[in-house]
Amino acid sequence: MTIEAHLQTLRQRIAQACALAGRPPGAVQLLAVSKTFPPEAVAQAAACGQRDFGENYIQEGVEKIATLAHLGLVWHCIGPLQSNKTRPVAEHFDWVHSVDRLKIAQRLSEQRPTTLAPLNVCIQVNIDGGPTKAGVAPEDALALAQAVAVMPRLRLRGIMTIPEPTPDFAATLAVHQRAKAVFDELRASGLPLDTLSMGMSADLEAAIQAGSTMVRVGSAIFGGRAAPNVSVAAASAGGVSPALPLP
Ligand SMILES: *Cc1c(COP(=O)(O)O)cnc(C)c1O
Repeated sequence: MTIEAHLQTLRQRIAQACALAGRPPGAVQLLAVSKTFPPEAVAQAAACGQRDFGENYIQEGVEKIATLAHLGLVWHCIGPLQSNKTRPVAEHFDWVHSVDRLKIAQRLSEQRPTTLAPLNVCIQVNIDGGPTKAGVAPEDALALAQAVAVMPRLRLRGIMTIPEPTPDFAATLAVHQRAKAVFDELRASGLPLDTLSMGMSADLEAAIQAGSTMVRVGSAIFGGRAAPNVSVAAASAGGVSPALPLP
């Protein structure tokens, strides 16, 4: 199947999940995760009307942003961030979903050029205590969110989660509902948040049922990735050394 056919199928899945959840069809935004895929694949998706793209690896993302600058796309950094690698993110991306500590937020705010709009930020929350996952503990999310909300060059938009895969729909839904509860708690504290970034190719129905406003989908659009952390994009760009996963 082509990227166009994949996108059509996916938009139907999202619309159907919204209908089942009693939510309006436009309630959930699609973030196309293009990590490891070449600029040509992004351009194909863009030709089908897709505007928002997510990248995990900073160097790979920055290269694609430069190559495709003429398309006016919106770029989201969704990968783990090290504090010594924040500058290219602050200078080139439109969104960061993976802010999980104060130091990262401070650096992003300091480094965001004043010629650009404030950087849109989500706090990554480790909702299920997964040991390998980045993210602030749910009970620490409010304090971090309040600190980020007043940083001058950042615009706090919401939270992001990457729960561990669970065996069935009910268990997946329960985890996503815990994330929604954290999101609601932050909003109830007065923060004007509009983005709950959760749900991927395998679990977007449960995420939408629970209240996700942005699903991040890679393989269901672009196909399977050769192996985690392998940059097909950099390799196929010709002679460019593969982007390294961070950290
Ligand atoms: C890779 C990735 C996705 C997309 O995963 P798929 O299973 O390919 O849909 C979403 N979010 C994050 C943070 C990712 O790293």
